[in-house]
Amino acid sequence: MSQASPSFLQTLRAHGLELCKAAVNTLQVNTGYLCNLACRHCHLEAGPSRSEVMSRSTMADVVACARRIPFETVDVTGGAPEMVPDIGALLGELAPLAPRRMFRTNLVALRENMGLLDTLASGGWNLAASLPAVSGSQVEAMRGHGVFEASLDMLRALNEAGYASGDGLELHLVANPAGAFLPPAQEAAQKHFQRELLRRHGVRFNSLFVFANMPLGRFKSWLERSGNLEGYTRSLRERFNPAVVPGLMCRTLVSVAWDGTLYDCDFNQAAQLPSSSVRHISELAAGQPGGDIPTGDHCFACTAGSGFT
Ligand code: SF4
Repeated sequence: MSQASPSFLQTLRAHGLELCKAAVNTLQVNTGYLCNLACRHCHLEAGPSRSEVMSRSTMADVVACARRIPFETVDVTGGAPEMVPDIGALLGELAPLAPRRMFRTNLVALRENMGLLDTLASGGWNLAASLPAVSGSQVEAMRGHGVFEASLDMLRALNEAGYASGDGLELHLVANPAGAFLPPAQEAAQKHFQRELLRRHGVRFNSLFVFANMPLGRFKSWLERSGNLEGYTRSLRERFNPAVVPGLMCRTLVSVAWDGTLYDCDFNQAAQLPSSSVRHISELAAGQPGGDIPTGDHCFACTAGSGFT
């Protein structure tokens, strides 16, 4: 991005906008950066060589927080949360504490820890499963050899376990572009995924979310190496859409990292921009945190076109 380009904050101000906290309704729990995959687009640089995972004591802080604050949604993510010791206990303790529960999976890690499927289904955890494309070669270029077939196997097992059957267990897919370009329109992409996955592989799911890749972490390194960083960030900036700012997820979500530090989203976690008021999950009380949300130029990825959230 050129020196002369206005920052995200300056862009907000030029539109008479500010980014501040509204009533918080979602607790996102990032259980750590350990993952069985090392995807090219990962903004957290998660992978098999990372050792950061949430301890039992921080899990206890998370559960205590969910007991004292009536969150509408608890959203568990990683890394690959399936690989975290005691993840089953955390899911079991959180399940009764929020009416809506979301668990994010790359599918392959869940296939390697099938014992967790009962805990997820009986606890009413909806799933957000990442599947970057319906083309096997595209998926494997981004995630590694064998990942596409393993993901399809897991999706079929989830259908068999009652996910996306209309009985309340939701299965959502999350896709993102393979390169330095913005995602296609969500509705058309969902129809394409639904048609292809059902016809070719017998897989059903509830809905598809298409997200722009964040110019952070491993994806940013790839953009730099491939000479695409400036062009990609320029295209995000040119598509800035002020109408999506009031609905950005950072306004209503707190994201707790593996070590208990609080952020306004997990992109700010990758950018090392903690929440401006309350710093640790053990200190969070109802009605907090208020105030301004720290931003960086990665925020342009959330406000490009129809927005990220
Ligand atoms: S990255 Fe997106 S969700 Fe996070 S603070 Fe920026 S605009 Fe909000």
